Amino acid sequence: MTTTSLTLTLADEAATLALGDALAHSSDAACVIFLHGELGAGKTTFSRGVIQALGHQGNVKSPTYTLVEPYQCGERAIYHFDLYRLADPEELEYMGIRDYFTDNSLCLVEWPERGTGVLPAPDLDITFIYDGNARRVVLQASTDTGRNMLKAVQS
Ligand code: ADP
Ligand code: MG
Repeated sequence: MTTTSLTLTLADEAATLALGDALAHSSDAACVIFLHGELGAGKTTFSRGVIQALGHQGNVKSPTYTLVEPYQCGERAIYHFDLYRLADPEELEYMGIRDYFTDNSLCLVEWPERGTGVLPAPDLDITFIYDGNARRVVLQASTDTGRNMLKAVQS
């Protein structure tokens, strides 16, 4: 089968934004991406790369207090989650979580561990790891959509 895992070194913030751009253009399919890594590792920076690549021109800030920030980019709905402050996965049920994970949405989820049991399974897991001033990222695909995205990013 095609690639299921890929490790890259991102020298600086620009490289992380470029990876977001490449992944954003790698597929039109509905997709769920889980973003792992410590505070400051680059999850929001990557999300900004994705969201701006799809045409959003304003700011992309971390939805730390709102838990989710919606963006409409043409036909595409993007939902950027930051679940750092989620106390209980059940809160996601009250938010109407199923309305976000739809047939044409792209969902980016920071701190998905906080939503275990309620969040759907991801197509792609991306882990950001401190490596001096740079970052190492490990991308792991769990579905055909995820594998297609990795394949597109590699070429
Ligand atoms: P997180 O959302 O994981 O908490 P952020 O994306 O908000 O992290 O912050 C990452 C910080 O690290 C930013 O200040 C960014 O400029 C800096 N940085 C340095 N090198 C990189 C890199 N290669 N990729 C992403 N961010 C980097
Ligand atoms: Mg963040």
